[in-house]
Amino acid sequence: MQAGPFPGRGEDEWVAALAGRLAPTGVPGLGIGHDCAAVDLQGAAAVVSTDVLVDGVHFRLAECGGRAAAGKALRVNLSDLAAAAAEPVAWFLGLVLPSGAPQALREELLAGLEEVARTYGVPCAGGDTNVAHGPLTLAVTVLGRPGPLGVVRRSGARVGDVLSVTGPLGGSLGGRHLLAEPRLREALALARLGVPHAMMDLSDGLSRDLPRLCQASGVGARVDARAVPVHDDAVRAATTGRSPLEHALDDGEDFELLVAHAELDPATRARLEEAGVRLTPIGRVVAQTQGIRLADARGSVPLAPRGFDHLAPAEPSAGARGPSA
Ligand SMILES: [Mg+2]
Repeated sequence: MQAGPFPGRGEDEWVAALAGRLAPTGVPGLGIGHDCAAVDLQGAAAVVSTDVLVDGVHFRLAECGGRAAAGKALRVNLSDLAAAAAEPVAWFLGLVLPSGAPQALREELLAGLEEVARTYGVPCAGGDTNVAHGPLTLAVTVLGRPGPLGVVRRSGARVGDVLSVTGPLGGSLGGRHLLAEPRLREALALARLGVPHAMMDLSDGLSRDLPRLCQASGVGARVDARAVPVHDDAVRAATTGRSPLEHALDDGEDFELLVAHAELDPATRARLEEAGVRLTPIGRVVAQTQGIRLADARGSVPLAPRGFDHLAPAEPSAGARGPSA
């Protein structure tokens, strides 16, 4: 995607700088650096997340239409609540319509938002709309309450934990990203059974998101290349020199959950199955000194972040990657 306005600095560095200057003493509760914040309101916690989606960056309005674009804006925000195993309560909409947009676009946007809001049973509690000379922009903020395990963070992974994902990865830009299913039901089932030590949703690709969970937890990881569930879309996408596995590791917008958890006992495994939650183990949490590596029968290589970074300067295309001894 496009080079950002901060050449030489990626999104993570920019967010870290922003946090240092705008919240120098932190916030009461959980602040910047997780999928959601959890602001302590004198006893009760409000779990909050916000995501801005822009035509040409997160969707192509001319191709997908307003209904899918608006639906995605709400879906990806609900996915962040799922990452914290929080329960959605309400959401807010910030909408910038392109000037001269046809009336039909408003109806499409409304229909898309309505469909997702109904599906997940979450009402809109307010917002603001504007018109400007620019691309359609949708800023959704979701508000939730902590789930049965409180606010699950990225920072609870422990050495020896299993790393699992809730579904197959890769190739979502073929269209699946527009219909991402926030894993709210799965997250709550996991939380009820006390499973997640740490959790996040995979929005920017496993190779970019896993290091974020590892950094927050102060751990490393070893991912088994043969265990990563590769989506059929990743196989379909693998026609331009990148393997299906590379698509599964690097493509963004899967919106599956990445979970660090203890080895599951048979009873927990059975109850997850009853709840329809499928956890696929992809690796282990290791000591931070061991880094983040991708392993197969031949050996291991560092798992370099190649997922989507909105602010990174455009990278020259890299060669094929695969573990080697
Ligand atoms: Mg997220």
